[in-house]
Amino acid sequence: MIIGLTGGIGSGKTTVAALLAQKGAFVIDTDLVARDVVEPASPALAAIRREFGDSVINPDGSLDRAALARIIFHDEGKRAKLNELTHPEILKRVLALISSQSADTVIVAVVPLLFESGFDRSCDQTVAVVASPEIRRGRLQERDGITGSEVEARMKAQLPDAEYERRAAVIIRNESNLTALGREVDRTWDLLTGSRAKAQSTT
Ligand code: ATP
Repeated sequence: MIIGLTGGIGSGKTTVAALLAQKGAFVIDTDLVARDVVEPASPALAAIRREFGDSVINPDGSLDRAALARIIFHDEGKRAKLNELTHPEILKRVLALISSQSADTVIVAVVPLLFESGFDRSCDQTVAVVASPEIRRGRLQERDGITGSEVEARMKAQLPDAEYERRAAVIIRNESNLTALGREVDRTWDLLTGSRAKAQSTT
């Protein structure tokens, strides 16, 4: 089973994925895959350099993520171009990871652009982690030390919260503490894997 896990920036996707991994899921973090795809000397990084120029490349040949972020989060066309350069290779690697698993594995793919990329159509279930923009802003400022306006620009580049709630099959609300989030994740796991139903049928 493939579960597509999404949510806005700072909603708690990584935290939820870690909790699902503890329950036995095989987690694919597409942000990590995306990093691998643009490693130094990769074809994707060469394409990015051609498109965006030397200013997005560090002296050691790696991608200057902050410089690229400053460009793409303020320009929808450039963001689309970057996605065009990287998404096919990311998708190829994610599909390879999926096929490395047995059919009964619960695979959780963390995909920030789950619906925008159309990857939701490859999933058996979709889950969105949601929290208010105020809560997300606070957590991100604490985690990354980025400014309110940088968070704002990134939020604007994503679906509005209501869209996640409309499109995802299951919603995990993450507006309280980690204990409450753990309970939400337990509930979601039981719902999606049917383990509660199985436990009940054996008693
Ligand atoms: P990004 O969109 O940047 O990839 P994300 O959606 O993966 O972020 P996380 O990294 O899981 O979000 O969470 C953002 C920050 O908020 C992290 O520092 C995390 O530890 C913290 N956090 C998440 N959920 C909670 C919670 N319920 N209580 C307190 N802190 C939380």
